[in-house]
Amino acid sequence: MEIRSLSPARAPLQFAQTLSAVMLTPWQAALKRDLTMAEREKNIHIQPSSSISRTHIFPALLAIAAVSGLCAFVSPPLGPWRVILSNPGMYIDLLALLFLLFMLWSSTKVRMNHVAVNWVRYGLLLWIAGGTFDLMDEIFRQPRWMGYYCEDLLRLTGMLLSAVGVYKIIERINLLYVDARSQSLKDELTQLPNRRFFIDTVREKAGNTQALMIVDIDYFKKINDTYGHLVGDEVLFALGKQLAKLTSDKVLPSRIGGEEFAIIVDGLSAQEVDELAQSILQNARAILINHDNPLSISIGVGLRHKDEPQNQFIKKVDDALYKAKNNGRGRVEWAV
Ligand code: GH3
Ligand code: MG
Ligand code: MG
Repeated sequence: MEIRSLSPARAPLQFAQTLSAVMLTPWQAALKRDLTMAEREKNIHIQPSSSISRTHIFPALLAIAAVSGLCAFVSPPLGPWRVILSNPGMYIDLLALLFLLFMLWSSTKVRMNHVAVNWVRYGLLLWIAGGTFDLMDEIFRQPRWMGYYCEDLLRLTGMLLSAVGVYKIIERINLLYVDARSQSLKDELTQLPNRRFFIDTVREKAGNTQALMIVDIDYFKKINDTYGHLVGDEVLFALGKQLAKLTSDKVLPSRIGGEEFAIIVDGLSAQEVDELAQSILQNARAILINHDNPLSISIGVGLRHKDEPQNQFIKKVDDALYKAKNNGRGRVEWAV
């Protein structure tokens, strides 16, 4: 059992506290105003889209237009304009080119800052160059080599780069998703799962016999008021660390609110659950506030009956916690 001793308010801690309060104020004030998406992104430094590639894309498109214009200038048309304009192949190629331009424009909207996005952009540029020559051979007489090298090779290389880029983007998005999902289910201070995880897990386990404990620190406001919020945070961290050590297939602790923790217990008898609750109570006393004040917590415990609605189950355990508070704190009470 690890014993943490927590010191009283110290000057550097208070300074850090004041500093963080000062730094947080504009952010909190900004949140109170109804900020636009752009304003929020500016606050947390998210680029609206990659401007670097935009500046590259426009000259590249101009270069493609200039080269194909030059080729058109030196090549004779396939026949009279009336015949050329009545060729449906030209409209199909034109449509394909417009789609590619649309995809390129869409790629400039991607907010991800990753090299794979450039693979797609440069791939699309080559594909567009190939598509331009494809369109031109419906209008002008082109030498055979132009068909092979300018049209097919450019298009194939462009397709290859775009495909690799899309594959890499999907890989990256999957990684970011997994990371964001795990962050969204974790409490930052204690690194325990958070309230969202708790609610999801209780819902998932509906139908199983399960027990729930709600743990609340006694007189936590007083700890904050006496020793400062940073010491309060240390207490939360220490208790969170103790509870995290209990995590197993059968025991799932989480932080569900300020100084409230919930522990979902699956597959233990009522007696085992009671023993676990008593040991949590005892272990919490090993956390010393200001070197000599053992931490006191109260615990409400309850078993979920078959088909008992989730809200009713949680409320009954919450009521047991309040019974523990009313009966003197620092104790375990069972829900009836
Ligand atoms: P009781 O014994 O009845 O539970 O009293 P209490 O003082 O523990 O409960 P109360 O609900 O009055 O106060 C909870 C306090 O927890 C108020 C809030 O400022 C503080 N708090 C909530 N979240 C955090 C946090 O993340 N860090 C710190 N330091 N304090 C927090
Ligand atoms: Mg409390
Ligand atoms: Mg509370």
